[in-house]
Formats: sequence, structure tokens, C-alpha cells
Amino acid sequence: MTQETANPPIQAISKQARSVVATLRDKGFDAFVVGGGVRDLLLNLDPKDFDVATNARPEEVRAIFPRSRIIGRRFRLVHVLFGAEVVEVATFRASHQACDVLASSGRILADNCYGSIEDDAQRRDFTINALYYDPIGHTIMDFVKGLEDLRDGVIRMIGVPEQRYREDPVRMLRAVRFAAKLGFQLEAETHEALLRLRPSLDEVSPARLFDELMKCFLGGYAQPTLEGLLRYGLLESLFPECRTLLLAQDPLLHNLLHHVMCDTDLRLKQGKPVTPAFLMAALLWPALYHTLVAQGQGALASQRVMRRILVSYTHFERLAMPRRFRAIADEILVLQPLFLRREQKHLDALQQHPRFRAACDFFFLRARSGVEAIPEKLVAFWRERYEFSASPGVVQLAETPPWQVAENEPGQPQKKRRRRRRSTRSKVSGADLMVQENPIP
Ligand code: ATP
Ligand code: MG
Repeated sequence: MTQETANPPIQAISKQARSVVATLRDKGFDAFVVGGGVRDLLLNLDPKDFDVATNARPEEVRAIFPRSRIIGRRFRLVHVLFGAEVVEVATFRASHQACDVLASSGRILADNCYGSIEDDAQRRDFTINALYYDPIGHTIMDFVKGLEDLRDGVIRMIGVPEQRYREDPVRMLRAVRFAAKLGFQLEAETHEALLRLRPSLDEVSPARLFDELMKCFLGGYAQPTLEGLLRYGLLESLFPECRTLLLAQDPLLHNLLHHVMCDTDLRLKQGKPVTPAFLMAALLWPALYHTLVAQGQGALASQRVMRRILVSYTHFERLAMPRRFRAIADEILVLQPLFLRREQKHLDALQQHPRFRAACDFFFLRARSGVEAIPEKLVAFWRERYEFSASPGVVQLAETPPWQVAENEPGQPQKKRRRRRRSTRSKVSGADLMVQENPIP
């Protein structure tokens, strides 16, 4: 074990975490700040939260802090509440396998056996996540050479990587996420074992997948995390509808995902809201679009047809995606053809739709990802309406859409104009917006 004095002391540990540690110590227990909070502060990053590890049992912690509750079945933890801030307190876990209830695959189903701080360090995932900081004496306890890996930029699984991934395949997603967030490299065996074991991700419960993927994509590092997940081939098992397209390196899917992740990171940096529904829409659009093209419907398909395809998708169940996000993702997708329609009634319906702005953002994203040939003029037309709709009040659309301008002849009856435009297909149509044939190399 290495014990180092944090120099300078990590002052940015939250007041609340510090007070939890101090209170537990006053009651005669050991207590440390551990995990991502310590890791991030040592790297001069802004930690999301602070976790405390202690030798006090969950019931003892619960009894000490009046505003606390015990959570979790698989791992029992205590949440100590300070207004909106929560400090998570975990009891040191035992390391020996006898305490674990293992599934036949080696997956841990329950482990509530408690142990020493050294045992606890062995149960953590990566060495850089197993640093114990004492915010009172300002010392760091390191049982697994985590400080060395932190300095060298290495993500190293504690113990035997293959066994640790088997115990909990979510660690594969975590390895990729931390590497992306910190710009670190996976240590050789941590990397090799991940490649061997990636099919075991199939065993992870939908609820845990949802939680972990939200951390992957809504943590401010979505773009590099996506690159890592693609490199390791981890998305295939998570998103069944994308599997074929991912394996074929479909340009529509790749470009759309790349752009949506960049946008998400940027929005988070700017303090703008982000929704998982938008990301789900980006994951589903290429599959939906290719199906529509194969059915001869193209990008002008009806909402009824699109909804019929969407209900057959299993993405949402696989990820335990809450119903409200699914509803928004569906709306964003089924509204897409309306951005290409010429009829005024469609334009009006679209602009008055409660999801207009989200759907419009998605339409811009499709245009920007550059695989579908969406005309500039059309994007400019919708951009103007989008900006207009940002101001309060009802949007009044008096102007003619750009694809009608050239063809409008004063005094010509509406019906006739429409028919002629459709027959000549001179401007925007579903066919124009189809992905180039044979996009697959
Ligand atoms: P961040 O909060 O920035 O995502 P973190 O490292 O704090 O990163 P948490 O999910 O908050 O991640 O977990 C806190 C700590 O608990 C981790 O640092 C790690 O030590 C341990 N831990 C979390 N998940 C696992 C796991 N699946 N297997 C082993 N240890 C884990
Ligand atoms: Mg954390």
C-alpha cells in the first residue's frame, strides 16, 4: 500500500462529503472519499459527485444521519441527503468469492458481505477508481498502484480482467467511457479481455444498460465515447436494429451518430438541455430510413407506415428506455417526412406540433451529416422558421416554401400547380433524399 499526502490538499471535495467523513470518524468509524471524485480532482477535472467508503454498516450509517435512506438490493448503500446534494456512502466490501452469489457465467448477483479497506479496493473496477482520500489528514491511500496509472494515463482493471468483466459486463462500457473521458489508454490485458468478452454485454439487465449509456452519452464526452464503443464493437449488442448497419459501416448511421454526439457535448458545455430521446432518434433513423427506401417509400413515407415499422423495434425495451423518451423519439422520427412536403397544410401542422423544434433540430442534423442529399435551400427555409418559432407567440407562415417559388405562376390554380410539380419532380422529393446507392464499401 502507498500512502501519499495530497499536495496541495484536495480542497474541492464538497463540504457535504467532508462532513459525512468527519461525522463517521467522530462516531469511531473509518471513512474516506473514494472513486471518481478523487480521480477527477487529481486530474484537475470537475467531479460529478463524491462517494464515501466506510467500515460502518448501512444500518449504522442510516442511524447516524437522520436525513438518509438505504438503497439498492444488489449492493446496499446509504444516501445521505443535503438538500439537492446526495452523498453516497458504501460499506467496505469483502473480496473473497465465497460471499458472492455467482450466476453460471460468473456474473455477480448479490454481494453484501463486508470487509476491510484493502478488500474493498480489490472489489473496485479500475486502479484509478480505487484511491481513498482522507479529507481531514489530506492523505491518499493507494492499494493498487492507482496513482501510478493516473500519472501514466492508464485504465487498468484490478485483478484478472477476464474474470472481472465476467462478474459484471458493465465494466466494459465503463472502461471505454473512462478512457474517452480522460483520454487514457486501456492497459494491454484490460483491452484484450474486453475484445474477447464483448458478447457478454448481452447479459446485462436493461435498467443497468440505460443508466450506463446515459452516463456514456450525457456526461459531456459522448463523441469520444462513441468512437471507443464503435472501436470495441460494443454498440452492436446494445442496439439490435443497428447491428447490420454498424457491421457494414453504413455512412448514414456513422455520420449521424458522430454529429449528434458532437452536438450533445456542445450543448452540455453551453448549459443547454439534452434528451436521450434525441439520441435514440439518431440511432433509429438510419435503420428506419433504409427500410423505407427498401419498401419504395423513401423519405416521404406516411406517419402510419413509419409508426408501423417503429413498433417492431426492440431498442427501447433492450435499454429500458422510459416511455416518455420513447414517445418523443417516435415523434421526432415520424415528423421528418413533413420537412419535405410541399402542401401548406403539412407545413402548418408541422410548425404547430409541440415537437417542432426537436424535430427541426433533427432535420438539421440529417442535413449536416451530409449523407442524405438535403438541399441547402430547404435547410435555409426551415432555419428561418425555426428561429422565428423561438420567439413567443404563434408562428405565422405567409411565405411560400422555396421549392414552390420557381414554379409559382400568378393566377394559376393551386390544384394544377401541385399536380405539375409532382409529375416533373423538379425540386425536392423522396428520391432526391435517398442515400446514395451502394454506400457500403
Ligand atoms: P463517474 O461518477 O465520474 O461516472 P465514478 O468512478 O465515480 O465515475 P461511479 O459509478 O460513481 O463511477 O462509482 C463510484 C465508484 O464505485 C467507482 O469509482 C468504482 O470504484 C466503484 N464502482 C462503480 N461501478 C463499479 C463496478 N461496476 N464494478 C466495480 N466497481 C465499481
Ligand atoms: Mg461517481
